[in-house]
Amino acid sequence: DTLPDLDAAVTSCRACPRLVAWREEVAATKRAAFRDWTYWGRPVPGFGPADAALGIVGLAPAAHGANRTGRMFTGDPSGDFLVKALYDVGLASQPTSTHPGDGLELRGTRMTAPVRCAPPQNKPTPSERDTCRTWLEAELDLLAPTLRTVVVLGAFGWQALLPVLGRIGWVVPSPRPVFGHGAELVLSGRSELRVLGSYHVSQRNVQTGRLTPAMLRSVLTRAGDTAGL
Ligand code: SF4
Repeated sequence: DTLPDLDAAVTSCRACPRLVAWREEVAATKRAAFRDWTYWGRPVPGFGPADAALGIVGLAPAAHGANRTGRMFTGDPSGDFLVKALYDVGLASQPTSTHPGDGLELRGTRMTAPVRCAPPQNKPTPSERDTCRTWLEAELDLLAPTLRTVVVLGAFGWQALLPVLGRIGWVVPSPRPVFGHGAELVLSGRSELRVLGSYHVSQRNVQTGRLTPAMLRSVLTRAGDTAGL
């Protein structure tokens, strides 16, 4: 299989009944501001080149963001914040991410998530996280030949990603290293792979100043440097 095959396959997954119901209900009811949109309402594939050296792992699509537009980190404030920072450090072709036809390209970078369907309250259950793990495993397995660095946005992604890397050939320390903003690991095994932690680009983190643009740029600059971008 290739990454485009995987991206196509994930969009028809219906393995989590609660998330299937929610993503479709949100798509049917919409938010007033987007009533003219045909919501995507399905699982969202990763976005970025198939030979990416840098991976960015978030949490899950936002109900009126990627669940509406069908593209990761597209159409909501979290996506705007992340893509502006990627642009500022030279990893995105433009500072905004509004819809799939907006021309955005990422340089050597692929954005993905451990859970591909929008969850209620942005909170997937542990069992939904474990069910969706197969998709992230398959994606990272295909990216492995070129992947050098992964940025994880938030503790949920950190908890989800490390076991996945362990299952596809990297050596993950035990006990599992603790998540934090600026946390950095170098894994061996399948290749040398660096994992960097950043606070999530959620509206709450941004509005409270827990995550500032400078803090995110600092992690992304380190990520780009270590990925050779
Ligand atoms: Fe499938 Fe993942 Fe969506 Fe569950 S969250 S239905 S496993 S794509």
